[in-house]
Amino acid sequence: CPETKTFRDLRPPVPFPSETVPLSAASLALSLQSASPWRDATALIDSATGHRVSYSEFQRFTRNLASALRTTVGLCKNDVAFVISPNLISVPVLYFALLSLGIIISPANPLSTSEEISRLISISTPVIAFATSATADKLPKLKYPTILIDSPEFESMMERKSLDFEFRDVEISQNDVAAILYSSGTTGKVKGVLLTHRNFIAVTVPYYHSQQQERLFPPVMLYTIPYFHVFGFFFSLKSVAMSETAVVMGRFELRRMLRAVQEYKVTHVAMAPPVVVAMLNAIESEDYDLRSLEWVGCGGAPLGKDSIKSFTEKFPTVILAQGYGLTETTGVACRAMGPEESRRWGSVGRLVESYEAKIVDPETGIALPPGKQGELWIRGPSVMKGYLDDSKATSETLFSDGWLRTGDVCYFDNEGFLFVVDRLKELIKYKGYQVAPAELEQLLQSHPEIVDAAVIPYPDEEAGQVPLACVVRRPQSSLDEAQVLDFIAKRVAPYKKVRRVVFISSIPKSPAGKILRKELRKNWLPESKL
Ligand code: ATP
Ligand code: MG
Repeated sequence: CPETKTFRDLRPPVPFPSETVPLSAASLALSLQSASPWRDATALIDSATGHRVSYSEFQRFTRNLASALRTTVGLCKNDVAFVISPNLISVPVLYFALLSLGIIISPANPLSTSEEISRLISISTPVIAFATSATADKLPKLKYPTILIDSPEFESMMERKSLDFEFRDVEISQNDVAAILYSSGTTGKVKGVLLTHRNFIAVTVPYYHSQQQERLFPPVMLYTIPYFHVFGFFFSLKSVAMSETAVVMGRFELRRMLRAVQEYKVTHVAMAPPVVVAMLNAIESEDYDLRSLEWVGCGGAPLGKDSIKSFTEKFPTVILAQGYGLTETTGVACRAMGPEESRRWGSVGRLVESYEAKIVDPETGIALPPGKQGELWIRGPSVMKGYLDDSKATSETLFSDGWLRTGDVCYFDNEGFLFVVDRLKELIKYKGYQVAPAELEQLLQSHPEIVDAAVIPYPDEEAGQVPLACVVRRPQSSLDEAQVLDFIAKRVAPYKKVRRVVFISSIPKSPAGKILRKELRKNWLPESKL
């Protein structure tokens, strides 16, 4: 809209269930599944053992488990359940049972330390924890019961038939909180994000309506993304709504992933950027039959244009679709749909139906036209309710008229494709100019002798800050600092030049593929400047 400088997708709006109807996100997904021609399909496959769960078993397990949690364990609506587990096939069953009961799920990264877990627990105050035999030790010894989801007791709760419970016994308003998901803590401390059933319904319905009607069999979706992260959490709902077969992989390892694609004829994989790059570089890719693969979805962190181009050359029949979103938007807010859109290299796709967006000049607050860079603001039905117990952070991020500040510098092109430049907080200020580390990182990664790179601001008396490149060389490479400086200097405007280089063995990254700049800053900046 040229007057308000608001961007909106022009596809016809998708029909959402009326907000006033009591409905949990799980019930919606299960009812769409029951009405599907693929209602007898396989719901879950454990990639390690090959164990399969059909959709009729999934529906039964969910109901049995909900019944046991309600009647035997005594959980009530609005209780908080903490979950700390790697990806197992019992995790989506647990999520569905808890969501159907109106219990708020608070899932954490199983690789977190005990201290980090204690902090999350102090934010979310659960009444019960679900863990595995390997992760239970991380939980602080407090006065709440812990149930092991890899135990025979849990299995019998799923198996045991209970006659005295129906999901409709619990009335769940769509605006009730469904989950407290944690932001990745990339730019500061981790925040508890309150997401409602309506938020999850709002992200699931557009996916459901965009599914290809002409498919002869349901998509087989491999999960390399963790269930505790917003993408994994939401995908577990979306998979059921779309009757997909989900291949669940506990611990990611490239060979195991490629083997699983071959063995289970996987058609769709959602992955973080480092996995795309690993797939591209690995010669192992040639050892496996990957012809079943149709679609690779990638998001959560930037993926270099060169990597996208090389990936499409190496796997010409696979659609590499980028998506963009935040925990605060319940996952995907922009995505590339279909082969045409996915070929917009460098773009993260177009707004999901029913979203609005603005590009706002961070200095003046004025909305900008296509082609201009500024902070992306988003408004739509999947924007969070707020941060848990942090009214200051909530009011700084989410305005009363529904606009959410993403903290990302972006621009739209004339056709509504979004390009992410970098995070506002990460921009390097060189003599008053702004330099985006992501642009320099992509250039560095395109050097044949550079495997990976990250750029951070280094304090400088004259310029304020200068870009420092942390570079991982290929084995046996003798690339030196002067060559790196020269390589970049030839490709960018003078104010963007890299001014310092350090060579390191690997770039620290989160499971979603985000560069952990905090760690690089700790190691490479003078202590007084941290
Ligand atoms: P915190 O808010 O705690 O600092 P975080 O922002 O990394 O952590 P998430 O909600 O997991 O936590 O990630 C959202 C962010 O990830 C976005 O704001 C954006 O910076 C980045 N992001 C997501 N998708 C993409 C993408 N396709 N390309 C570039 N960046 C992306
Ligand atoms: Mg964030």
